[in-house]
Amino acid sequence: MGAIVPQRCEVGHPVPSLVGCPLMRSKSTPRGMGQMVELLGLLAVVKFLSGPRPDLGRAVVPSASLPVIAEADVVVIGGGTAGVAAAVSAARNGAKTILIERNGFLGGTMTAGGVHIFMFTVGFPGFYREVMDELLRRGGRLPGSRAFDPEVMKDVLYDLVTSAGARVLLLSTATGVVMEGRRILGVVVETPAGAGVVKGRIFVDCTGDGDVAAAAGAPFLLGRWQDGLPQPMTLMYVLKRAGRGRVEGVLSFPMPGGRVLINATRVRGEATDVRQLTEAEIEGRRQVVAQVRRLKRRFPVRLLSTAPHIGVRETRQILGLYILTEEDVALGRRFRDKIARCSYPIDEHNPTGLPGTRLERVKPYDIPYRCLIPRGVDNLLVAGRCISATHIAMSSLRIMPTCMALGQAAGTAAAICVKKGCLPNNLDISELQRLLVEQGCDLGIDPHNVLLYLKSARAFSDSNYPPDEAHPDTGPHLAIDCDERTRWLSGRGPEPHWLIVDLGRPVAFDRIILRFEERYGGVYIVSDYKLQVERNGRWETIASVKGNRRPVVVHKFSPPVRARRVRLYVTKANPRDHIVRLREIEICAPAD
Ligand SMILES: Cc1cc2nc3c(=O)[nH]c(=O)nc-3n(C[C@H](O)[C@H](O)[C@H](O)COP(=O)(O)OP(=O)(O)OC[C@H]3O[C@@H](n4cnc5c(N)ncnc54)[C@H](O)[C@@H]3O)c2cc1C
Repeated sequence: MGAIVPQRCEVGHPVPSLVGCPLMRSKSTPRGMGQMVELLGLLAVVKFLSGPRPDLGRAVVPSASLPVIAEADVVVIGGGTAGVAAAVSAARNGAKTILIERNGFLGGTMTAGGVHIFMFTVGFPGFYREVMDELLRRGGRLPGSRAFDPEVMKDVLYDLVTSAGARVLLLSTATGVVMEGRRILGVVVETPAGAGVVKGRIFVDCTGDGDVAAAAGAPFLLGRWQDGLPQPMTLMYVLKRAGRGRVEGVLSFPMPGGRVLINATRVRGEATDVRQLTEAEIEGRRQVVAQVRRLKRRFPVRLLSTAPHIGVRETRQILGLYILTEEDVALGRRFRDKIARCSYPIDEHNPTGLPGTRLERVKPYDIPYRCLIPRGVDNLLVAGRCISATHIAMSSLRIMPTCMALGQAAGTAAAICVKKGCLPNNLDISELQRLLVEQGCDLGIDPHNVLLYLKSARAFSDSNYPPDEAHPDTGPHLAIDCDERTRWLSGRGPEPHWLIVDLGRPVAFDRIILRFEERYGGVYIVSDYKLQVERNGRWETIASVKGNRRPVVVHKFSPPVRARRVRLYVTKANPRDHIVRLREIEICAPAD
């Protein structure tokens, strides 16, 4: 923690109000609500979260003078799935960054919410891969598994944040904002020693609930359109199972050491209302006890632990400059200002709390940067599950890898704003996208760059995996079809395996992007290969890689290379089955 800055900020205490009742569809804290204060010579307004719904009248609390306890370029609020990625990215991109978290450790739903497994999607961001590599290195997950040990995760996240140069303020809850017009000057935080203000230039709300955006007056949606009900909450728990085998009849995930993670309790309620949240915690615990009693009759299990708090799937969706819809998700819509990708299905657990889940496949879709920019607040970004999306769209994008991608994008954007002296709304999107790709984020195939759209392009390979029911087509053309869901599978025989792309005529290119199979914890990522071009009937190597661990590899060529035929020559596919799994080879023309 940095030193306490000897400044003071005159503010009042929060008073309960009726703003933001549950079941309203579009809400905001009314503008003008809050108290005028003077902060460092500026006339500012302090606004607080609306507070618990009052039914016992109001209490008037005398105004207080709050110390300014820290100051940074970028203030990230919420040290969970998105917030850690945001803080690391902002700090690594040169911004003086502080991360504020209400728990005594980082990770949010990944640790305190008891959700210890990443779902699969396209577009895993660079930060996710770093976390996965570090978990593996420290024994916090097994090779090929996306389940992890939450205790190792806490350490990994803390080390990543601090080694990036960001400061962390734990046990501090943001409860309000100090505003000047449409700008946030500081967030009010409640600490064990009382309240204080953290000042900043750009704020990133990663609280999951959009607490800061709501306090600043940004409008939001809550729940499904019919009745405002959000998805149910779940108290996650871990069983210890004697011997081998699964625990059936409940949604369960095997973990290392004979442990089984159970996602089976369902509690209806609105988690921004502390009374409903309290009831949910109690009801969640009741359900755990009843379920464990039943499971013990069928399996040799015992309860090891419950999550530190109930897991909240959905609360506020902060309305931004674009609202991602069910249609965007279902149709796999592409956006010019994409900053993340997702292909996780629509996964809406029944909001009434009764059994039943709407699970529907989607096409890989883009998430536009505009979903991160709240309406009406100039120097704020949001990331994580609370971005601008409808109830159904968020049921897909809410998974942890995508929340990390959103955090990485928001943190990087915040750092650019600080460097360039601009606001999130005026940022150069191509610079943000370039930085994200350089940081290992996968923004998908860009049809504007890909020469393979040329009608004349053809692909050939040394061998193909025999088609079967699971893989009806495995041919090399699938590596140049601009569809990241399909892939070329080489034959099973020993390496070398190769794939040639014939562009039909000599063309200049300055990048080749390879997308290898990412599933199964990355065990099938191609390890050793060369990129070659044909010159006078001979193959000339233009790039050579050994020990690759990245599913998406960008090769840059300066000056650009000119060739008609390009060959991917694999000398070591993977140690398991020697099959090359290539989703796409993109050969990109130089930008104009
Ligand atoms: C029961 C359940 C099961 C799920 N299963 C999976 C799964 O298997 N795989 C998967 O990939 N995804 C799963 N998800 C989805 C995923 O876990 C979440 O959507 C995602 O982690 C949310 O990330 P976030 O960064 O938005 O919020 P969080 O990770 O919850 O982070 C928010 C952080 O902000 C802090 N915070 C909140 N308010 C304040 C405040 N006012 N001041 C300071 N700090 C604050 C919190 O303490 C927390 O650390 C599941 C979710 C739930 C609830």
